[in-house]
Amino acid sequence: MPHAVTLIPGDGTGPEITEATRRVLEATGVQFTWDLQRAGLEMLEKHGTILPDEVIESIKRTKIGLKGPITTPVGKGSRSANMALRKRLDLYANLRPAKTYQGLRSRYENIDMIIVRENTEDLYAGVEFQKGTPEQQEIIETIARTTGTHLDQESAISIKFISVLATRRIVKFAFEYARANGRRKVTAVHKANIMRFSDGLFLATAQEVAKEYHDIQFEDRIVDNMCMQLVQKPEQYDVLVLPNLYGDIISDLSAGLIGGLGVAPGANIGSQYAVFEPVHGSAPKYAGQNKVNPMAMMFSGVLMLRHLCEKDAANRLEKAIAQVIAEGKNVTYDLKARPDDPTAVGTSQVADAVIEKLQKL
Ligand code: NAD
Repeated sequence: MPHAVTLIPGDGTGPEITEATRRVLEATGVQFTWDLQRAGLEMLEKHGTILPDEVIESIKRTKIGLKGPITTPVGKGSRSANMALRKRLDLYANLRPAKTYQGLRSRYENIDMIIVRENTEDLYAGVEFQKGTPEQQEIIETIARTTGTHLDQESAISIKFISVLATRRIVKFAFEYARANGRRKVTAVHKANIMRFSDGLFLATAQEVAKEYHDIQFEDRIVDNMCMQLVQKPEQYDVLVLPNLYGDIISDLSAGLIGGLGVAPGANIGSQYAVFEPVHGSAPKYAGQNKVNPMAMMFSGVLMLRHLCEKDAANRLEKAIAQVIAEGKNVTYDLKARPDDPTAVGTSQVADAVIEKLQKL
C-alpha cells in the first residue's frame, strides 16, 4: 500500500528542496501518493490566506505532512503559517535531531542529540499586548494591583505561560522517544531559579514524570549553563526537553554545532498528525536559483520514513546522504570551505548524487 502524504512545497526556496526530497524518497522504493497542497506568500496574494483550509483538511485525511519552509510576512498583521499549522493540528512536540556526519565542517565529532521542544505554550505562543492599546493598559493596571510592580506605560507585553498538562505530555514524549530509540538520558532545560513559577512548574513536572521511567537517566540544566555546556562538551548530551522559546534557540545553536541549517531536520508531532520539515526558513534571497542545500529536508524525510515504520528505507536514505556529505563533491555552497567555491553544485544535483548512492545500497 502506498503511503498517502500531504506535500506542501511552501515558498521561497521551499519548492526546489521539496522536489529534490520527493525524488530521493521515491528512489528508496517506498511508494507514496502525494497530495500536493499550496501554502505561502503566493496563496496570501491570490487568496488572502497564507495557510488555506485545504492544507489542514488534507493533513487530517493523510495524517502526515512533508513541508517546505513558509515565509512569515513582516508587519502585515499576518501570523506565521508555521505556528498556525502547529496550533490547528495540535502538533505539540517539535523534534529536532542534531547529529554530526563525517565530512561536515564542524568543530565537533560524535554529537548525536535529539532536541524535544514544546510547541504550543510559553512566550512563543503569541499572547501579546501592544503598547498604547486599551488591553495593554488593562494588563498594566492588573499587574500593578496584583503584584505592586508598576510597568512603564510605554511597554509592550508578552505573556509566558506554562501548564502542567502541556509539560507532562512533552516530557512524556521525550522519555517515550528515548525508550523507543535506545537513548540513555533525558535532560530538562529551564530557568527555574529566576522564573520560579513558570519554569519552576516545568522542572517540577519533569521531575515527576521522570519517576515513571526508571530505565532512562534524568537530569536538569539551567538554560544559560546549558548553552555553555553545549559549546564545551555537546557529546555528553542525548535527549533534551525544553519549553518552546529555549527549544527554538537551543535547536539553532545545535544546528550550528553540527554544520549549519543546511543539514538540520525537524518534525512536528501530535497525538494524531505529524508534519516533517527542515529547521531552516525559506531563504528567499536564493529562491529559484537551484542553490540551497536540500539535505535538511531530505533528513526530515528520513524522520518521516521512520515514523511510517519504513525503517530499512530510512536507514538507506540516511546512509546515502551521509556518503554524499563524506565525499564532499556533490554538495552545495554551505558545505564547502568557502561559500564562493565554484565546485559547489545545485539543489537538484545533490538529489541526483543521493539517488546514485541509493541505487548502490
Ligand atoms: P532562513 O533559514 O530562511 O535563512 C537564513 C540564511 O541561512 C539564508 O540566507 C542562507 O544563507 C542560510 N540557509 C537557510 N537554509 C539554507 C539551506 N537549505 N541551504 C543553504 N543555506 C541555507 O532564515 P530567515 O532568513 O530568518 O527566514 C526567512 C523566512 O523564513 C522568514 O520569513 C521566516 O519567518 C521564515 N521561516 C520559516 C520557517 C518554517 O517554515 N518552518 C522556519 C524558519 C523561518
